[in-house]
Amino acid sequence: MMIRTVLGDIPHTHFGHTQCHEHLFLEKGKSFEINPALCMEDPEKSSAELADYRDAGGSAIVDAQPVRCGRMEEALVTASSKTGVHIIAVTGFHRMLFYEEGSFPCSWTEQQLTDLFECEVTKGMTLKDGRRITARAGMIKAAIETDGVYADSASEMLFGAVAQAAGRSGAPVLIHTELNADILEMIEFFGSAGISPQRLVICHMDRTRYDMGYHREVLSTGANLCYDSVNRLKYLSHEKEIALISAMIVAGYEEQLLLSLDTTNQRLRAYGADMGLDYILKDFITMLREHGVPMSAVENMTVNNAKQALRLK
Ligand SMILES: [Zn+2]
Repeated sequence: MMIRTVLGDIPHTHFGHTQCHEHLFLEKGKSFEINPALCMEDPEKSSAELADYRDAGGSAIVDAQPVRCGRMEEALVTASSKTGVHIIAVTGFHRMLFYEEGSFPCSWTEQQLTDLFECEVTKGMTLKDGRRITARAGMIKAAIETDGVYADSASEMLFGAVAQAAGRSGAPVLIHTELNADILEMIEFFGSAGISPQRLVICHMDRTRYDMGYHREVLSTGANLCYDSVNRLKYLSHEKEIALISAMIVAGYEEQLLLSLDTTNQRLRAYGADMGLDYILKDFITMLREHGVPMSAVENMTVNNAKQALRLK
């Protein structure tokens, strides 16, 4: 089984500690206008951050910035070569507020989007100027708003393109979730397009829907949940995060949970923050252990599960 990184396909057995929703690079643009924390475009700083992560035991990250949305393809390739950390790049789409109005992706047809997303996984990623590089994306991203997959025709079209491209390319799907979005309906949508729940990595639900009963329902479908609000204390405390993780382990779902940080420049040491990409490795695992989470569950959430969730079909 292979995982598609920016430096090529790597056997899943070569992967160790993996964080499945990070932002190592983000070019200054619309995201920065909305929130100045959303810009990390210094190659030296981002590489230094990645080297610290490696030194703490980090093996791989998913950089969750999709095509034409501030993704820095060539910088990802360079940083990965320099540090030896595997990087999985993503294609697909983010929330509409991160794009200029009337432009990509809404101005494209479903067919054009499907072709682009598939091509980014199978042939190579497209730069801003339209050139294609040989480095490929390894996941396809979709963003679900509070109103769900069927919120409007654009949303349905975008989800359709992601599902078709995932089916054709065999890439797993990364999902950004907004507050209280209907995730079960979304899982059904993908199912009817031939994408099974096991192929989905659903992010942010620790902060967008803190409802343990609902998490159990989502996990019972077989989908993977990435808890990536670790140490984002304005959203939830360590106690609440750990209580959620512990409850899902007790419910029998430790093989479907992933841990990550969803970093911004406010959460990367190299950009002046008081924590770094190595926070889970250096601090959070200890906290989990102190709260009685068994080492075998930690191993699953940080190492083993990603190997399954990120592999190509
Ligand atoms: Zn993110």
